[in-house]
Amino acid sequence: MTELSRRGVAAALPGDWTYAPALESRELVTISERYGLFIGGEWVEARSGESYTTLAPRDEEPLAQIAQAGVEDVSAAVAAARAAFPAWSALPGAARAKYLFRIARILQERAREFAVLESLNGGKPIKESRDVDLPLAAAHFFYYAGWADKLEYAFPARTPRPLGVVGQIIPWNFPLMMAAWKLAPALATGNTAVLKPAETTPLTALLLCDVLRQAELPRGVVNIVTGDGTTGAALVEAEVDKLAFTGSTEVGKEISRRLAGSGKKLTLELGGKAANIVFEDAALDQAVEGIVNGIYFNQGHVCCAGSRLLLQESIAAPVIEKLKRRMATLRLGDPLDKNTDIGAINSRAQLRKIEELVAAGRAEGAEIYQPPCALPEKGYWFPPTVFTNVAQSSRIAQEEIFGPVLSVLSFRTPQEAVEKANNTPYGLSAGVLTEKGSRIPWMAERLRAGVVWANTFNRFDPASPFGGYKESGYGREGGLHGLEPYLRFDSAPGR
Ligand code: NAP
Ligand code: MG
Repeated sequence: MTELSRRGVAAALPGDWTYAPALESRELVTISERYGLFIGGEWVEARSGESYTTLAPRDEEPLAQIAQAGVEDVSAAVAAARAAFPAWSALPGAARAKYLFRIARILQERAREFAVLESLNGGKPIKESRDVDLPLAAAHFFYYAGWADKLEYAFPARTPRPLGVVGQIIPWNFPLMMAAWKLAPALATGNTAVLKPAETTPLTALLLCDVLRQAELPRGVVNIVTGDGTTGAALVEAEVDKLAFTGSTEVGKEISRRLAGSGKKLTLELGGKAANIVFEDAALDQAVEGIVNGIYFNQGHVCCAGSRLLLQESIAAPVIEKLKRRMATLRLGDPLDKNTDIGAINSRAQLRKIEELVAAGRAEGAEIYQPPCALPEKGYWFPPTVFTNVAQSSRIAQEEIFGPVLSVLSFRTPQEAVEKANNTPYGLSAGVLTEKGSRIPWMAERLRAGVVWANTFNRFDPASPFGGYKESGYGREGGLHGLEPYLRFDSAPGR
């Protein structure tokens, strides 16, 4: 006799498994009506006199008026960073570490507030901003705080020196996390910074200014200039000693053309079209979770997303079957709902781009599957999508879609998997799913990708370097490797 029938509770179990909404409170954040630029530790009006409205992609609600920094504003920010450099770079490493530790701790304390703002302004599910973006942003500051007083041990027999003022341009897919990836190593190594967040997602970077003040970071060490691509272009042309860029390959190429011969250091973190490779010996149910995490995490707005699924032919049919079943259980909806798996597409422009590439996939004859899924009326949405019967040469197999769209290809032998995986202009990441241990290093050696995940996908750790081959860019972020792009080395040790 079961507990329920003994107690005489009839029909206590729900007939279906519909989730009740579990909304995180928007009241956790206070958004100002308008924001200026953060220069020299102060909020200043943009000299350009221009501004734009930032939206919530879930319903296009206007959230705030954001300053559009012009050339003069960017110069003022660079000048403030230049003025702060001598004192900041002269601090002992342990003193710089103290500020980074403070920033990390305050981010942890204010994590819920940041997570809500990130989901509201960017569209990503709250469970992801809460469990991934915020912990990783704090972890990055903690990690690089630990290096600040150990640089001479990081580079034995070389004398590391900061570069000066660094310009940093970041995208909209992980707004706060990208700011942390950029700022933490720059500050730990004694540089000062001017950061430009993406046009569509400025709000968490602006809230970070509040954290920097709370941490009593010396004025001018970090300056934040908001605006669109023209603000980014102005920062590229400004008097900075180094530029760090994360975004599209197209803009990355343009920046490297502009900086050629300028003597400025450059690192580029660009697009990707990663292969997620499943062998016939893989644990298939587990593999399906790895596939889902690889492509539907953050609506597929992930440069290292596993957007090309390579299935060994013998298991292709059952894996596709299991995947479709799993896709039907993904919940698409309000980013602030803790049950949501797939949130809103970041912008109308990104939605158009996804729609265009999906139309191209259909036109090229690939077979499309989308689970039944009601899209909200307002805002920007795209259902989880998988294409089968995809030709290796088709646009959906070659171009980065940057949305929740997966293209499935098949292979017979490990050699063929390697060839197909490497048949892309990109080389940021790859996944290998197999129970056979020796196959993992064999594959990793042959895949031309900066990161290779084994039996998992989209795992990040501040101690692990991240970066690309070929058109995915150059330079590494994270780990010991991530310090180097922010340093120069005096030839004679100990000077
Ligand atoms: P993007 O234009 O390259 O944006 C990246 C950053 O660069 C943003 O802050 C952007 O400002 C700025 N920017 C734009 N034009 C610039 C210029 N000429 N000089 C200097 N900075 C400039 O990328 P997107 O338009 O947001 O997205 C387009 C595609 O890029 C996506 O569909 C995806 O394929 C790829 N992407 C890759 C990553 C990645 O992590 N590797 C991230 C995002 C996007 P605005 O925000 O004002 O454009
Ligand atoms: Mg853009």
